[in-house]
Amino acid sequence: MLKEKIILTGDRPTGRLHIGHYVGSLRRRVELQNSGIYDKVFVFVADAQALTDNMDNPEKVRQNVVEVALDYLACGLDPSKTTMFIQSQIPELTELSFYYMDLVTVSRLQRNPTVKTEIQMRNFETSIPVGFFTYPISQAADITAFRATTVPVGEDQEPMIEQTREIVRRFNFIYGDTLVEPEILLPDNAACLRLPGTDGQAKMSKSLGNCIYLSDPADEVEKKIRSMYTDPTHLRVSDPGKLEGNTVFTYLDAFCRDEHFQRYLPDYANLQELKDHYTRGGLGDVKVKRLLASVMQEILEPIRTRRKEFEKDIPAIYDILKQGCEKARETASKTLDDVRKAMKINYFDDEALIAEQSARFAEK
Ligand code: ATP
Ligand code: MG
Repeated sequence: MLKEKIILTGDRPTGRLHIGHYVGSLRRRVELQNSGIYDKVFVFVADAQALTDNMDNPEKVRQNVVEVALDYLACGLDPSKTTMFIQSQIPELTELSFYYMDLVTVSRLQRNPTVKTEIQMRNFETSIPVGFFTYPISQAADITAFRATTVPVGEDQEPMIEQTREIVRRFNFIYGDTLVEPEILLPDNAACLRLPGTDGQAKMSKSLGNCIYLSDPADEVEKKIRSMYTDPTHLRVSDPGKLEGNTVFTYLDAFCRDEHFQRYLPDYANLQELKDHYTRGGLGDVKVKRLLASVMQEILEPIRTRRKEFEKDIPAIYDILKQGCEKARETASKTLDDVRKAMKINYFDDEALIAEQSARFAEK
């Protein structure tokens, strides 16, 4: 039998989704969903993971579940093609995580560069919650429970997928071929691997407050773009400007296509011409920011409009999630059955075991 092609990916409900999520993963997911190449697509709201560093703020996590689901639908994820579910409602995932913990060492977890950065960002220092420290293991459970072959995510998730692959290989080596090794699918555009924040920081992140949200009203987007970080040495229009670390140009790399120039800035044929002018000198930041604002509004306007429609019927959103959870549980519990069998903890389904032991004791 040919291996099924299965997508799985998710987001933490720590805030609404932003344009970093969009270019890092969301845009790709919608394309993959509509490509018809994949047998199944699972997308989930990682509330249990969000609680690992928001344990004292359950209300924040709870309120953001629906926000993330609305962003999914607004971007074009379609519940008839994609199973959308909430992580905490699938208890099978917790059980898998518990077994996978036996296959990973503390020092291996300590080497995870993304977790290292996140621990620093959260000032956990020596008081790291065990749940947070082990979240890469829980991510392995999420991915493997659905036998995902493809995980479309941003660059920060690379260590997680590598950790998952290691767990799968170790599990299959010890217990026999049971789990599927996933592949990471990174954005093909370098600017989208890790979109920087509007403040120029390395990553746009809900937790850093440097985001343009998909649901921001048009005037808010304008305002955020106007105050964006550019090249601090580019003081006068006539000064030559630098592109490296210039967030406005990084965003243009991520979002702008040649056709946008015909519509919004016909003096230039494409982004390269604009970049050349900027580095030569004589092109002001305001003009570049105006172009970016036009491009962003063109992309965000339809998302905003669709979101407003979905916001009118919140019970329907919960219905979608509930149905998704039921479907997801079915799949996850099948994998868990296989895992229990492989690990020899399926006592009550194992007639051979009972028969063999009966015979052994009868001989005594
Ligand atoms: P938090 O700060 O709570 O961790 P986050 O903004 O990092 O939130 P996540 O929910 O952790 O968002 O990430 C969800 C997905 O979006 C992952 O696939 C991640 O790689 C991708 N992603 C998040 N931020 C960016 C970014 N700035 N650029 C590209 N991809 C991103
Ligand atoms: Mg994150």
